[in-house]
Amino acid sequence: MISNDNDYLGKIMRRIILRRIVTNRCQAGKNKVSLTANGQLFPCDSFVGEERYCIGNALKRERYNGVLEEIYVDSVSMCSQCWARYICGGDCYHNSFLMKQNVQDIDGMFCKLQKYLIEQTIVMYCQMNEIDSALFARLTRKIEISTREGVN
Ligand code: SF4
Repeated sequence: MISNDNDYLGKIMRRIILRRIVTNRCQAGKNKVSLTANGQLFPCDSFVGEERYCIGNALKRERYNGVLEEIYVDSVSMCSQCWARYICGGDCYHNSFLMKQNVQDIDGMFCKLQKYLIEQTIVMYCQMNEIDSALFARLTRKIEISTREGVN
């Protein structure tokens, strides 16, 4: 679960183990796009059809200014004050859009859950180390190697 980069809790644990700072929730609109059959480009699958988030058209070779490119955890006012920001990375842009119609207005319920999960993961991290530090060191090493080699 921890070495798999798809599991939600596992991702949080990996960030803590690797002391890796995350500055945004995902790469939507930064190095990731979704392409539709008519050539439209959107930051991710969830935004497809939301015309104001269209960032270009591949068939027309057009590129429009995207809002998500400029958003990082320190640029969102609520996140910039949050102790968990570099482990969290901020809420999903599409979730904020759905909940508040604003990709930079964070859903408070998400934060409560996220901070609780991060706290519990930090506790788990400490307990794993206390219970069997040698095994935990092996796990940490495995995660460092698989991350370096790009293997999940
Ligand atoms: S927990 Fe909420 S406020 Fe804190 S960084 Fe994550 S999204 Fe932002």
